[in-house]
Amino acid sequence: MRMVERQIEARGVRDARVLEVMRAVPRHRFVPPERAAQAYRDHPLPIGHGQTISQPYIVATMTELLQPKRDDRVLEIGTGSGYQAAVLSGLVAEVYSIEIVEPLARRAEAVLKELRYDNVTVRAGDGYAGWPEHAPFDAIIVTAAPERVPQALLDQLKPGGRMVIPVGPVHALQELRLIEKTATGELRNRRIAPVRFVPMTGDEGG
Ligand code: SAH
Repeated sequence: MRMVERQIEARGVRDARVLEVMRAVPRHRFVPPERAAQAYRDHPLPIGHGQTISQPYIVATMTELLQPKRDDRVLEIGTGSGYQAAVLSGLVAEVYSIEIVEPLARRAEAVLKELRYDNVTVRAGDGYAGWPEHAPFDAIIVTAAPERVPQALLDQLKPGGRMVIPVGPVHALQELRLIEKTATGELRNRRIAPVRFVPMTGDEGG
């Protein structure tokens, strides 16, 4: 598929499993019908409720940084369209995804079900608290930007686990970070790139 060659491989994403899955997931099914013709373009698209589906290259980069393994259980904060969850679905054992805008959660859940991404579980709710019932996770991907890394998410990451998260103020560029928790529980932070995500809303204190 041209999207994968020109936007993703050309910019240095190399993980063969990620490239394969991104060739297979029908992105046009995750955007509003009137946007279907633009689904494979090199930018984010509106999905309603003031939210967006991320640019394909960003989805690929974040997925590669997560180093998804077949047996992994992954938590996503910000289901949005469900596209990122569908990409992860083909790479790991289980995906748990939380979306704060209820109608978006319901729509993503329906599309994922229809397309038989059966290992994805969507919940409407506030991702700041993570999903304690299914924790700990091998990997956590956050697709909305909080000002600080939520402590509950750090707590729900397994030793050896990876978190990919954009962090920073609402009206500025944020910093995409890869946080790795070592086998002994220490946190290693890597700054990856400046990015622009919708803000993480909800209750930072909760
Ligand atoms: N991963 C999505 C991109 C979604 S944009 C996709 O593939 O389409 C980010 C999403 O995060 C938005 O839908 C927004 O409503 C949601 N969001 C913002 N704050 C949140 C929070 N506290 N908990 C859960 N979801 C949140």
